[in-house]
Amino acid sequence: MENVYRIGIDIGGTKVNMGIIREDGTVLDCDGIASKGADDAGDLVNEICHRMEACLTRNHLTMEEIYHVGVGIPGTADYRNGIVRYSSNLFGTNVPLADYFQEHWQRRVTVVQDSWAAAWAEYLFGQKKKWPSMLCLTIGTGIGCGIILNGHVYGGAMNTAGEIGHTSIVPNGRLCSCGRRGCLETYASGTAILEQALERFPEKLKDLPQKGETVFELAYEGDQAVLGLIEESVDKLARGLAMMINIFSVNVITISGGMCIHEKLIINPLPEKIRGYGYPAWAEKNEPLVLQAKLGSYAPMVGAAFLDRDNII
Ligand SMILES: [Zn+2]
Repeated sequence: MENVYRIGIDIGGTKVNMGIIREDGTVLDCDGIASKGADDAGDLVNEICHRMEACLTRNHLTMEEIYHVGVGIPGTADYRNGIVRYSSNLFGTNVPLADYFQEHWQRRVTVVQDSWAAAWAEYLFGQKKKWPSMLCLTIGTGIGCGIILNGHVYGGAMNTAGEIGHTSIVPNGRLCSCGRRGCLETYASGTAILEQALERFPEKLKDLPQKGETVFELAYEGDQAVLGLIEESVDKLARGLAMMINIFSVNVITISGGMCIHEKLIINPLPEKIRGYGYPAWAEKNEPLVLQAKLGSYAPMVGAAFLDRDNII
């Protein structure tokens, strides 16, 4: 059988991961460059293309042998036209990213948000069972979510589906990077948990590394105040997820990102809490399945390689 290869490119806020992906979702070869400080999208695409071509050459492949090229971005993309509509930290607004790639490779690439790509990878290759509908959350500096409905990524009419992180759950609450107040990610992201810990009990973190992991270490040591803060964050996350389930009636949720390793503190309490906020017609008899994502940091790269516009509804 002829080997089929794809290219996945995940442009993150600090780093670009790019690779040649086999049809079974495994990585044949990959490379990475820094994206932080790149102020011109065209220059960044130039460098990505040169690195990718070198990667192809050392694997005795050419662009003609690549079935699909997909790009994940940290923001909102118009996948039909290959344009980055909004990206707070990298591109700004209305960047015709697919055109830049086309100048190099004379072919269309698919541009999607990284959360959709990560969800697609998790759907295709992550879990033992292929759940046709699920919510795939990434909790890190923010909270992203890709929605899988009946074996497709749900993009919505405005390409913004899944923005649970920017759902306001506290009126006039904490200020978010998006400019609004009270967004879920200002309470329940890894960054938010650290920020709230620094505000509430700076003395506990005074001589320790100022990172989210430190907060969790204090929680594992049994610090009641820190445990309380984490529980509040999980509670808000559960409220947000219950809203999503009320709307989409999806009963499987995967969680990726740095926080997903904290099964005891984050993942295990979620099903019961989500039920507590859910519409009784489903919540009385059903408990959502909350699972750790399996693919790790390469998920957006692998998912982008496979997420074609036909897979998006
Ligand atoms: Zn926001």
